[in-house]
Amino acid sequence: MSGSRRLLAIHAHPDDESSKGAGTMARYASEGVRVALVCCTGGEAGDILNPRMDRPGVKERLAELRREELETACSILGVSRIHWLGYRDSGMPGTPDNAHPDAFCNAPFDRVVARLVRVIREERPHVVLGYDHPVGYEHPDHIRVHEAGLEAVHAAADPDRYPEAGVPWQVAKVYYFATFTYERFRVLHEAALAAGIASPYEERLQRWSEQGVPDPRIDARIDVSDHLHLRTKALLAHATQIDPDSSWFAIPDELQREAYPWEDYTLAFSAVPVDPPEDDLFAGIEPEA
Ligand SMILES: [Zn+2]
Repeated sequence: MSGSRRLLAIHAHPDDESSKGAGTMARYASEGVRVALVCCTGGEAGDILNPRMDRPGVKERLAELRREELETACSILGVSRIHWLGYRDSGMPGTPDNAHPDAFCNAPFDRVVARLVRVIREERPHVVLGYDHPVGYEHPDHIRVHEAGLEAVHAAADPDRYPEAGVPWQVAKVYYFATFTYERFRVLHEAALAAGIASPYEERLQRWSEQGVPDPRIDARIDVSDHLHLRTKALLAHATQIDPDSSWFAIPDELQREAYPWEDYTLAFSAVPVDPPEDDLFAGIEPEA
């Protein structure tokens, strides 16, 4: 479709937007799509994962720093607006952060849905990106994004639900990020070995094949060749969370471009006819006047 196109990505923490679908956001933003983002929490329960940033004063200012990092990453990716929901990061299961009264996982579900409905009715996105139920990374905040995200899409279209939250809006399609697939890491692993680069994925692939978790269905594959450098730059902007010497950057952009220049998605919902596999998230959506 041409004309006015709008995309909304719903994420749990600052940095999730740069590790899942960042190339897609950058590509669509560069094509004139309005790209907006919901960040549900401040990410304040995260550890400082970059040794360079593990210094006095950083932990105390973590919420503020992570907010700034997200703003920087979003300006790199071309995101027009960040909708902060302002919940507290719930931390990993079983940690004291789970019990904090402001934790995202403790907020009333209906209230979370209402707030997402308000954002959807304001942004009027054609396409919403969110999380499938996480497998192998059962972060309570990611589970919440999964559950409340799809519920909010349906509620936003229903004039009987949350009438105080704006004019109803029917989202055309919802996709789940299918980023961390066995197939993608296998291809990158083999490309690294063929190029004589130490692959950081050997153990991960071994573990996954032992666990036998099937890859998600891929319904859409977006070519982000020309935006891989922005994805890398956005990830690096999350200096407290992302170690520049970590496996995130083990495979150079040029090699990723040759071996696996795509970001993959599973279609979760569609109000328009679809014909997967797709190479455009807006396929089948009629242009707006
Ligand atoms: Zn997260």
